[in-house]
Amino acid sequence: MSTFQELGLREEILTAIAELGYENPMPVQAQVIPFMLSQPNDLVALAQTGTGKTAAFGLPVLNMIDPQSKQIQSLILAPTRELCIQIANDLKNYSSKMRGTKIVPVYGGESIVIQLRQLDTPPQVLVATPGRLIDLIRRGKVKLDAVRYLVLDEADEMLNMGFQDDLETILKEVPTNRRTLLFSATMPKEIARIAKNYMTDHEEIEVGTRNSGSNNVEHVFYMVQASNRYLALKRIVDMNPDVYGIIFCRTRQETKDVAEKLMKDGYNADALHGDLSQAQRDTVMGKFRFRNLQLLVATDVAARGLDVSDLTHVINYNLPDDVEVYTHRSGRTGRANKKGTSVSIIHTRERNRIREIERIIKREFKQLPVPNGMDICKRQLFHMIDRMEQVEVNHEQIDPFMDQVNEKLEYLSKEDLLMRFVSLEFNRFLEYYKNAQDLNVPDRKESRQRDDFSGRGERSDRGKGGRRGNRVRFKLPLGHKQNTTARSILGLINETTNDKSISVGDIEVTNKFTFFDVFADQAERVMRAFEENAPSGLRLTVAEERPRNNEYRGNRESRGYERNDRSRNDRSDSRNRRSGGYRDSSARGGNAEKPWRRRNRA
Ligand code: AMP
Repeated sequence: MSTFQELGLREEILTAIAELGYENPMPVQAQVIPFMLSQPNDLVALAQTGTGKTAAFGLPVLNMIDPQSKQIQSLILAPTRELCIQIANDLKNYSSKMRGTKIVPVYGGESIVIQLRQLDTPPQVLVATPGRLIDLIRRGKVKLDAVRYLVLDEADEMLNMGFQDDLETILKEVPTNRRTLLFSATMPKEIARIAKNYMTDHEEIEVGTRNSGSNNVEHVFYMVQASNRYLALKRIVDMNPDVYGIIFCRTRQETKDVAEKLMKDGYNADALHGDLSQAQRDTVMGKFRFRNLQLLVATDVAARGLDVSDLTHVINYNLPDDVEVYTHRSGRTGRANKKGTSVSIIHTRERNRIREIERIIKREFKQLPVPNGMDICKRQLFHMIDRMEQVEVNHEQIDPFMDQVNEKLEYLSKEDLLMRFVSLEFNRFLEYYKNAQDLNVPDRKESRQRDDFSGRGERSDRGKGGRRGNRVRFKLPLGHKQNTTARSILGLINETTNDKSISVGDIEVTNKFTFFDVFADQAERVMRAFEENAPSGLRLTVAEERPRNNEYRGNRESRGYERNDRSRNDRSDSRNRRSGGYRDSSARGGNAEKPWRRRNRA
């Protein structure tokens, strides 16, 4: 294994990283650093977060800058404010012994005034989100003509977040003789295209992943309204009669609630959480280990001490915030060469989280429809029949009764007998799932468009400007003339508000203007963010009148909410509604583009 000394880094850098406790280069560093220091080519590196990639690009960049020159020599682009700050902090640590080195992060969602001040003397390294950088370039505050090293970090994520146009604008601004380093967790077509168009003789390397999941685990998710989570859980369990798994919840309270409900509903379940005494915990874990319990509802912390190797399922009642936690949970199944399933129950606004996890663990998730009552009844029926086929008959014990049984049932044909026997179990499920509602949120494509607004409002007020029901329609003086796209608008809103809870819908770009909706209760925040942070001269106003054309109106429909029938057994949640949706956006004519996109802001 090579050492940092052997990689040819400056003495000041070696001292700084030694103080940070970095002893040996991580694999991505061992590959990227010597390449950057000795080769002239550009580089595409496929690497996940957590692999040490910041130092992989940061150390050679710092090694090559001239601290005496007060010009931006290296530009690092990253998708989110948090990543920008993190990269800048890491680089400040690595360069702590390099006198005169200045590293500045600039990102949207924060007052531009402070950032402008920090740029009075240009830093040697600028770490930026694309939208804010473009703003600063337009204000004449950032000059990129001395940039020699350009790093695109989490390039795929920048594209996912709608920064493609901004990236291309920036790529055209930096001198062509710079070196470019592109880091990405995945290699979608757009990244390959960027590499081809904007990089010179680039090499590609791929680094092993830290967060990769086991090949034996299948990752599936069910998408439901948040209020239907528990009902979906029951159906998933009913659909898997042989399930032996852990249901992970976020909090102790949720763990208790879910376990209690399951037990009340007749499932073989129990809870494991921090409020139990050690003795209680041991008892529950013991029952689970010996399979006297089929389902263990647990928090991550409580489940730590539990080592069970043959779980069939891990169920994420909620997605964890941290991908590593997801990897850890799902790694509890699919062990010892057995197949396992990691199930996630998500609500409509969490689809991007799934994409994020997919990207990091490099495994695809399969979306499954929440089973309906009939599916479950069928599964249960055949499960029972399988059990009947496989049951061992204890002749010694049963034979003495058989004459009597035969005599009693003599009048029944074989078919009658079977039907009655089957009905004995089946009726329970039939009754249970009679009138069971469809828990699926409508059609995948449709729901993707509606991710943000689903269940929150009707569309009966279409066509009006300004406040529309529970939404406010805004107008920006940016249109096709400025090469505006729905993506670039999302990027702009991201940058300006830096608030991931803000949902944007129905973006419509005309020649001169762009219109978009936000929820009324978020409108003021958006307005204020634009007043404080938007690029100079860009004024956000409430739309007076929405542009329309016949094609567009004729093709849209509004279904609003549909009331669900409350089934006897799904009655535990009286708020079960299924929101109606909008038709496919492709039905819209004119200038409408991707109207419903959830914005993924870390
Ligand atoms: P990153 O992928 O850049 O976010 O790095 C992941 C973590 O690894 C960070 O906490 C770094 O500080 C740490 N790290 C990076 N390189 C090394 C190294 N060579 N030795 C020890 N820790 C490292």
